Amino acid sequence: MGQVIRSFENFGAAVFTRDKMAQYLSKEACKSICNVIEQKERLTPDLADQVAHAMKEWALDNNATHFTHWFQPMRGPTAEKHDAFLTLDDGEAMERFSGSQLAQSEPDASSFPSGGMRSTFEARGYTAWDATSPVFLAQGDKRRTLVIPSVYLSYTGEVLDLKTQVLRSNAAVEDIALKMLKRFGNRTAKGVKVTVGPEQEYFLIAKDYLDKRLDLLLTGRTLLGAASAKHQQFEDHYFGAIRPNVIGFMEDVDETLAERGIAFKTRHNEVAPHQYELAPTFVESNLAVDHNLQVMDVMQRVAEKHGLTVLFADKPFAGINGSGKHLNWSLQDSTGANLFEPGEAPKRNIQFLTFLSAMLIGVNKFSGLLRASVADAGNDHRLGANEAPPAIMSVYIGGYLDALLNAIEEQKDIADLEKGTLDINVKHMPGVKLDSTDRNRTSPVAFTGNKFEFRAVGSDQNIGEALTVLNLIMAYGLQAMLDKIDKFAKDAPSVKEAALAAVNEALRETKRVRFDGNNYDPAWHAEAERRGLPNAKNTPEALYTYLQKDVVDLYEHAGVLKHKEIDAKVEVRREAYKKVKILELDVLQEICRTAVLPALAEQIRRYSDTEKSMPAGRGKGVMQTKVNLLSDLLWRLDEGVRKAGKAAEDAEANPSLEESVKYLGDVGAAALADLRTVCDEVEREVDDDLWPLPKYWEMLHLH
Ligand code: ADP
Ligand code: MG
Repeated sequence: MGQVIRSFENFGAAVFTRDKMAQYLSKEACKSICNVIEQKERLTPDLADQVAHAMKEWALDNNATHFTHWFQPMRGPTAEKHDAFLTLDDGEAMERFSGSQLAQSEPDASSFPSGGMRSTFEARGYTAWDATSPVFLAQGDKRRTLVIPSVYLSYTGEVLDLKTQVLRSNAAVEDIALKMLKRFGNRTAKGVKVTVGPEQEYFLIAKDYLDKRLDLLLTGRTLLGAASAKHQQFEDHYFGAIRPNVIGFMEDVDETLAERGIAFKTRHNEVAPHQYELAPTFVESNLAVDHNLQVMDVMQRVAEKHGLTVLFADKPFAGINGSGKHLNWSLQDSTGANLFEPGEAPKRNIQFLTFLSAMLIGVNKFSGLLRASVADAGNDHRLGANEAPPAIMSVYIGGYLDALLNAIEEQKDIADLEKGTLDINVKHMPGVKLDSTDRNRTSPVAFTGNKFEFRAVGSDQNIGEALTVLNLIMAYGLQAMLDKIDKFAKDAPSVKEAALAAVNEALRETKRVRFDGNNYDPAWHAEAERRGLPNAKNTPEALYTYLQKDVVDLYEHAGVLKHKEIDAKVEVRREAYKKVKILELDVLQEICRTAVLPALAEQIRRYSDTEKSMPAGRGKGVMQTKVNLLSDLLWRLDEGVRKAGKAAEDAEANPSLEESVKYLGDVGAAALADLRTVCDEVEREVDDDLWPLPKYWEMLHLH
């Protein structure tokens, strides 16, 4: 039994934790299921029956009526289909939940994307319980549902979800990391786990605005909207005092997350007005993915109760910061040691330097894949938009460590790091301890003390995709380091000496991917090009990376995805991109035709009537100029709508998905951007009472 939690008395109350297993299961069954959770045993039908019974009893004791397998189809958000415990046996009502119902279910899979791996008539799919992620109770309106985290596969065994690849890639990197520890002579560690803490950024605005903006409602982002005079230039929102209605929302979110056993660490205002962040305490990575999906879901539900809505779009408002998800990633061994902890004397911590080098090798070799892992239509607006990392992936090591790596490479010595203190120069205050590394908020892959922070994930994305790539490239880097160590071990007196030589070689090979300057600076982009680092400008371009031979080999070699499943992934992502872009083109046209154009026409009428009724003079001249100007705008607006319509039609008509996606990335994106420019000019010109949509200043500054 753990400590009594007094800040959140209900912590974990809605999760079928080990405590509850002990309460509802026999000792023996409890031990067996714990072994399954720790991946030491497979789930047997008999054990599944016992566990299912225990879960059902616990769920019924806690006001539940249904159970559901909960999975992560490639289309994005999670999926669920509820089944009642209640059934009729010979006309008699009873509650049933069997081991086979727990272990797997067979949803009709025809409407989930498969990337062409199946035809719609082959509808069968399987969801199977992932015992490493505990089942929990989700609150409905009055009753509760038992939620079973699951993987999702086709009838013929192809991966149709994002969870399976996470589980497989975790195993790949964990196995080889343990092998590396053993190579260093470690006998105590029994295993290694990937740990992850994803910081979630989001916007919170009044729900009324959503109802009045077709673009926000249907596409999740504003497709038009003139900038507010006050945007984020004062930087007064960042870490500002949290407003009462927002803290009310946050408290309710925290309460539900606590019940679900999700520990959160920080909450604060972000840079843009009405933008916030929640960072969880890091946990084992598979759980971190499931937790993050719950965080997003819980936030949306709680917001509704508060008359608010959460915007998870990567870039809901142009001209101000978008929202991302910083994926903090590290490795921890079974004794609890963080393998990326440099310790007091990093230069003598050769094992740490080996792991660090492995990541450098991985990012250097697969930086294009990392970028592709976060590619979607929404994130294209955020990456490189002067607030988020650019689409060029580089690594920031920072301060002392960077100097240390340079010294190793040049085979020089360097003094041990002296952790300084900063004298605040105020008598009663102690000195402040200085960190060994500074921060670089512009770097996409930053080493932050004892973990890597991958900052390019979009705020609405499932972190499982980027996590899988981080795992895979680290596994690749560790294998490369093992090979190097073996190579140098022939002539080295010890493993450490061999590893140091391996580190030295790795540093020389990966120098181009290290950058500690300002990643937003155009000069870096030119420099990165000279260094030969990939820089895919948009999603259509980035997705090609998945199809490169070495990427396919990476997935196949690690047993994570087969070639055909990677092809399917690319197809699903292309389809998604196409749908989003065409939807945006359609929605913007509709808003233009039904709201912007009529407002502008009415404005022209007003000015022209005024002009007619005015006596000759300068004012009349002003009115005439306005009428001419607006009439020109009207023509441009009409032209823009026509172009947007044509872009959508052409993309739709093109039988090649690949070509149509490419076309949308160029012509479609340009049509949207051009039309938006005209709309924003119109918004600045028409009377306030005529403008039919909530404006940026309202949405971002009214409470
Ligand atoms: P910072 O403020 O420097 O970004 P924090 O300690 O506040 O660092 O952590 C930020 C996020 O990183 C949190 O979500 C936290 O859980 C996560 N994190 C911290 N340590 C680790 C680790 N070893 N592995 C994975 N995530 C971590
Ligand atoms: Mg951080």
